[in-house]
Amino acid sequence: MQKDTIIFDLINKELERQRNGIELIASENFTSLQVMQAMGTVATNKYAEGYPGKRYYGGCEVVDEIETIAIERLKQVFKASWANVQPHSGAQANTAVFMACLKPGDTILGLDLSMGGHLTHGSPANFSGKNYRAVHYGVTAEGLVDYEQLEAKARAEKPKMIICGASAYSRDWDYQRIRAVADEIGALVLADIAHPAGLIATGLLNDPFDHCHIVTSTTHKTLRGPRGGIIMLRHDFENPFGVKDPKGNLRMMSSLLDLAVFPGMQGGPLEHVIAAKAVAFAEILSDDFKAYGQQVIANAQAMAKAFVEKDYHLISKGTDNHLMLIDLRNKNITGKKAQETLDKAHITLNKNSVPNDDKSPFVTSGIRVGVPAITTRGLKEAHMSTVVDMIDKVLMHADDEAVIAAVKTDVKNFMQQFPLYPELG
Ligand SMILES: *Cc1c(COP(=O)(O)O)cnc(C)c1O
Repeated sequence: MQKDTIIFDLINKELERQRNGIELIASENFTSLQVMQAMGTVATNKYAEGYPGKRYYGGCEVVDEIETIAIERLKQVFKASWANVQPHSGAQANTAVFMACLKPGDTILGLDLSMGGHLTHGSPANFSGKNYRAVHYGVTAEGLVDYEQLEAKARAEKPKMIICGASAYSRDWDYQRIRAVADEIGALVLADIAHPAGLIATGLLNDPFDHCHIVTSTTHKTLRGPRGGIIMLRHDFENPFGVKDPKGNLRMMSSLLDLAVFPGMQGGPLEHVIAAKAVAFAEILSDDFKAYGQQVIANAQAMAKAFVEKDYHLISKGTDNHLMLIDLRNKNITGKKAQETLDKAHITLNKNSVPNDDKSPFVTSGIRVGVPAITTRGLKEAHMSTVVDMIDKVLMHADDEAVIAAVKTDVKNFMQQFPLYPELG
């Protein structure tokens, strides 16, 4: 078989794109080389339906060791007592939790997608909104989670599950307060920490584990691992909604979650990705990663300050984590136009609705800006004003192709100080 130059040339082109640009998509990051190396291995050849020690196929003794190490390392990262590393993505992790805990038609309460929530938290376009009766809470005029509204909706709608966590929210969460109202109405609390997981792992944000029954995450955002999902418990508990095993005993939540992932929702696990997850989890346990988390927060603070100095309006006036939401209405440019124009200058971010946006989700009034990826590349606080200056220049000259081309060259030259995967040549 000849080398597939078509695809490998395109992969090299993608490497160059990543090297020459400023990556500000808040959900993206750059894994270490060894995380990628673990993924591109023979582990992809192995079928391993089931769990370590309980597989449906032979020859699983080696992948059993890999998956067991991944689970043990992940438990150590979050001081969890149980973990499942098989979900293929964050959305799959959430699907499995719903399958384990809910029946179709049950009520769920999550943050509204247009206010920063995620599709899997009950959006009508997603299985979570189609199979369950989804109700939503939002954010206040200042852009903070409206806990009073959350409590009122919880008491009025009696959801079986309250979901906290978001994709576009720059502040920390009051997990204790959410648990208190959940206990009042007998609901479970799911914390979906897909975005800030790396900052929670390093103790830089509130810890959801003691207040939330179940925690899900992606592994590829601030955790800086391969693309994938995980589910964790710190304290296992009996299923509160009466699911029993054949002997009539109430099932433990850990066992229901395992069954929901496989055979409930997925077939064979991606053992090559699980190997890469294991490598990433060991990296997260290192002092280097702790320093990374601190730098992410320092960079986000510095970037927020630089934007405010240029009269950009930050939702909630700032950030506690790795991202910020900017309302561009005073700058007379839509989120869509901002995203498209910055893309031309190789500055990558995404348009985002702002709370009470008057524009459609395809246009939007805002942008979401995140620092995890540029922090991995080595940018520090002092570089943030340079990045903001370049963004501002593009947005203020969005119809001037010459200015955009000049910034594109500046971006490329600037990013050469921060080599990405030099080992790849
Ligand atoms: C990114 C994200 C997910 C989904 O992750 P995928 O791996 O893209 O399926 C789920 N929940 C939240 C809050 C997210 O931000």
